[in-house]
Amino acid sequence: MATIAFIGLGNMGSGMAINLAKAGHDVRAFDLSEAAVAKLVGEGASAASSAADAVSGADAVVTMLPAGKHVRAVYEGEIFGAAAPGTLFMDCSTIDVDSARHVGGLAKEKGFRFVDAPVSGGVAAATAGTLTFMVGGSEEDFAAAEPFLQVMGKAVIRGGDLGAGQAVKICNNMLLAITMIGTCEAFSLAEKLGLDPQKFFDISSKASGQSWSMTSYCPVPGPVPTTPANNGYNPGFATAMMLKDLKLAQDAAQAAGASTPLGAQAEALYAMFDNLGGGSTDFSGIIQLLNGSWQAR
Ligand code: NAD
Repeated sequence: MATIAFIGLGNMGSGMAINLAKAGHDVRAFDLSEAAVAKLVGEGASAASSAADAVSGADAVVTMLPAGKHVRAVYEGEIFGAAAPGTLFMDCSTIDVDSARHVGGLAKEKGFRFVDAPVSGGVAAATAGTLTFMVGGSEEDFAAAEPFLQVMGKAVIRGGDLGAGQAVKICNNMLLAITMIGTCEAFSLAEKLGLDPQKFFDISSKASGQSWSMTSYCPVPGPVPTTPANNGYNPGFATAMMLKDLKLAQDAAQAAGASTPLGAQAEALYAMFDNLGGGSTDFSGIIQLLNGSWQAR
């Protein structure tokens, strides 16, 4: 069993860190929130007084932080100075590709091992240990990270070198946003045309309009009982989170010179929904904006 520093014990990180502790690893927990650290101590982890304290003497480090600026600050300000040579770093935060490559490149220069390993699956999957990890890094570093990531997930897949995990994540989520908006538009039009939503689902889910947004995350109540649509559009995956990922996708598209007009439209629509008070509503709740039933909050 390994000594693992876990930094960033928020909605996602706490469940992930608990799963590492339950698997028998010696988890050293740090977060700016003392309550978050205390929760982990209650689950068998030990408390660290800073990120540097958590990392010193650890075999591996997992970070689960809000955004690129936090990841840069924590690695450059604390982790690099305190970690032993050869320490394995796994950054599971969703951040911009440039920050992932920058921090990962610095780590490699300094003789550490590093993978960017953002996740798909929300808080429920983090708690259940059923996340999907999209990993960027060398084959050797991936092989070293895989057993730890397996403890927290159901699928661990290498997408390529440093930054590839983040690249897969933002491309996947851009596609998800586009198919969700398309699915919402189709259900809204179907209703205006007098179709029963269940009938439209029964046929389209077996025809060429089928997608994950329809069959696993249907944005109208009824056809798929487990979706947020059946629970007042409580997340699930909040609109504000989707908007963050769409912004990252547009920044990356601009930097890479890729044409993503539907990604740009999706970002604009989610920004509008967020501005009208939909930020903490599940991202499938954007159907209310499209069918005119949303009341600005
Ligand atoms: P969160 O805001 O709940 O947790 C982030 C934690 O990081 C907080 O507890 C905060 O105190 C801590 N933190 C911030 N700066 C720190 C520092 N300098 N040192 C130590 N701790 C610090 O966010 P979350 O929902 O857990 O998301 C974490 C990451 O996972 C984000 O990048 C997010 O985009 C991604 N993600 C979230 C979901 C989801 O459904 N919530 C799904 C997939 C990916």
